[in-house]
Amino acid sequence: MITEPAQSQSAVTSASGELYPSLALQVDPTDVAPRSLASYVPLSGAFAAFGKVPVTPVPGLIRDDGALAQTRNGGVEIDSELPHLPADDLNKVLAHESVHLAQQQSEDGPATTGALEAEANQLAPAMLHGDAVWPSLAAPAHVPLKQEPSGSRRPTASEIAELNRAFEAATGGAGRRRQDHLRAQQEYIRRLRQLVAERNPIETNRLILDQYSPIQAAVEDMSIGQANRRPISISVSPDQIQFIVRFQVRFRGLAMDAARQRFPMLQQNLRAGVSQVWGQRLSRLPSLVRGREFLVTPIVELISDEAPRNRDYWLVDVDPGVTRAVTDPEDGTMKISPRNAGEPDTLGHESLHLFGLMDRYIDNRSTGRSMGFRGSGNPNTSAGSTGATRGDPLDTGRGPILSEDLDFLFVQLDVYERVIFDGLPPSDAALMRHMGWGHAPRLRELLQSAKNAPDAAQSIRESLDRAENRILLDLSAETERDRLRRETALPPPTP
Ligand SMILES: [Zn+2]
Repeated sequence: MITEPAQSQSAVTSASGELYPSLALQVDPTDVAPRSLASYVPLSGAFAAFGKVPVTPVPGLIRDDGALAQTRNGGVEIDSELPHLPADDLNKVLAHESVHLAQQQSEDGPATTGALEAEANQLAPAMLHGDAVWPSLAAPAHVPLKQEPSGSRRPTASEIAELNRAFEAATGGAGRRRQDHLRAQQEYIRRLRQLVAERNPIETNRLILDQYSPIQAAVEDMSIGQANRRPISISVSPDQIQFIVRFQVRFRGLAMDAARQRFPMLQQNLRAGVSQVWGQRLSRLPSLVRGREFLVTPIVELISDEAPRNRDYWLVDVDPGVTRAVTDPEDGTMKISPRNAGEPDTLGHESLHLFGLMDRYIDNRSTGRSMGFRGSGNPNTSAGSTGATRGDPLDTGRGPILSEDLDFLFVQLDVYERVIFDGLPPSDAALMRHMGWGHAPRLRELLQSAKNAPDAAQSIRESLDRAENRILLDLSAETERDRLRRETALPPPTP
């Protein structure tokens, strides 16, 4: 639990950030004109090439063709009722169709409809999740692939076998695949090395910022993994990193009619607070992410006083019995007073706690005020506060989250790994997805293992060297195996 001290009287205001809502959420449900695929669904990696593919709403597609959507000739058609669906549901349908678009890029060895559908069902969630995926099956573009409204049917054994065979063929057999997998890990580590080097000064800055709040920083480090992340969806595309965060709002002791009247104001303040805290440019982060736009898009819905807790959402619990806002990151609940509901600053600040970040200011009991001091010097001897002057919202500032904290969060949420995957050749990324990470470490684990080393940077370099050496060893073993196989397959030499 993170309980807020009384509001500071001396909080410093700074430039507020900007928030760009999800394009999918901006789609006017009454507008059924064709739009591009990218205007509905986040497209990662190789799928980004389908951004301009037209999505045409067709009246009666479900009724006449028994299909929610179909893909043919480089275009997607959806039933004209579909744009009325919640963005999440529509995204699922269109992710499935995006896999069909990819399947229809190649005409060799047309697969059975059942296997094509099974592969689309298998890959669509990973694609939406921002993972780099690419199908192994192929189909001619002129044959429409229809998505049945019944949802995902379980694939048959023969469809699964067909999928596995296609994957084998696409990756050139087991030996070749193991070599490609190892080379994919090499490439991954090469990019990770550059990231590690560029992150180093950012991490050092954060240590300096926290030199007088070591306990908060240590507790944060230990507990951040326990935060309820189920409400967060992260998607990565060549020009964007987007977090979609889902909130439910409950007004304690209010009937639904009364709650509905209060809800729009809270929703607006929550969006404003989130925009202020998370509206952050990535210009101070490593080059891997620097050119991308960063979006945090809240989806906010009202629930009744009696609705059971659904951990797929963060809960904003408006309770007249609350005197100070308190957030429980592990459950993903912020309890606020009705007065807090009118304060974007408080709502934005509490959203940092939902991600598992901890306060950096301290409560001065003698003055009854919150004191900001992060990065400023010893709180017992100094009155100034560079934390606050940078508008640090974890301190007493009201600006966007500091880039040092955003970097820390990117590490914790594996955002950098997603971006590396997004930039790998699709076949490399697909191999690592199918066959695992092999010797490639996660950044989070790498940093953890170097934590107590006398020279953390040196220790990380050594870990990466060891991983690369293991890859090289495995590669030479594979090459040797390959050579033996070829030699034994040769006809005996003629005298
Ligand atoms: Zn706080």
